[in-house]
Amino acid sequence: LEKAKADLIHIDVMDGHFVPNITIGPEVINKLRKYTSLPFDVHLMISPVHDFIKNFAEAGADIITIHPEATNDLVSSIQKIKSFNKKVGVSLNPGTSVKKVLPVLKLFDLVLVMSVNPGFGGQKFIKDTLEKVKILRKEIDIKKLKTQIEIDGGINFENAIMAKKAGVDILVSGTTIFKENGGNLEKNIQLLRTG
Ligand code: ZN
Repeated sequence: LEKAKADLIHIDVMDGHFVPNITIGPEVINKLRKYTSLPFDVHLMISPVHDFIKNFAEAGADIITIHPEATNDLVSSIQKIKSFNKKVGVSLNPGTSVKKVLPVLKLFDLVLVMSVNPGFGGQKFIKDTLEKVKILRKEIDIKKLKTQIEIDGGINFENAIMAKKAGVDILVSGTTIFKENGGNLEKNIQLLRTG
C-alpha cells in the first residue's frame, strides 16, 4: 500500500459488541507498525472505548477515531487521546446526527462520516450521508478550521467523485482498492485520487 502511494492506513477495530463483528486489537496493530511509516488511522468501533485509548496509542496509532456513542464523556475521551499526542477523530454512523459534533468541531482533527453501518466490508454506499459531508464542509470553511472530513464505507470510483465534490478530504477504501482491476493497488488508488 505504501508503494501504491496510499496516504495512510485505515484500521477498523471491531469488538463484536459495539458492532456485530470482530477484527483486530492493539497487539496486531503493534506488529504491523514496523512494516510502514505511513500514518495509522485507527478507527475504534469498540465500547466502552475510553480505557482502551492508551493501548491503541501505545500500539502505534497516529490518529484515533472514536464514536460518540461509545463513551460516557466525549470531551474527556478526546483529552485522553490528545494526552498521548495523537490526532483525534470522531465518527458519525449513518443514523448519528451531525448536530452532535457541530458545536465542538474545533476539538477534532478529523470527522469520519460512515457511509455504511459499521460492521462489515463490502456494503453498499448510503448516498444520503453526503448531505452530512456538505454541512460539515460548510461549517469547517466558515469557521476556518483545519478539521478534515473522511468518508468510510462502500467507496467506489463513481461515488468517490461525488464524495470529493461534497467536500471530503480523505477517502477510505478496502474493497475497491483490493478487488478492482485485478487488485492493482497503485492503479486503484490513483483512480480514486484523480477520478
Ligand atoms: Zn473505518
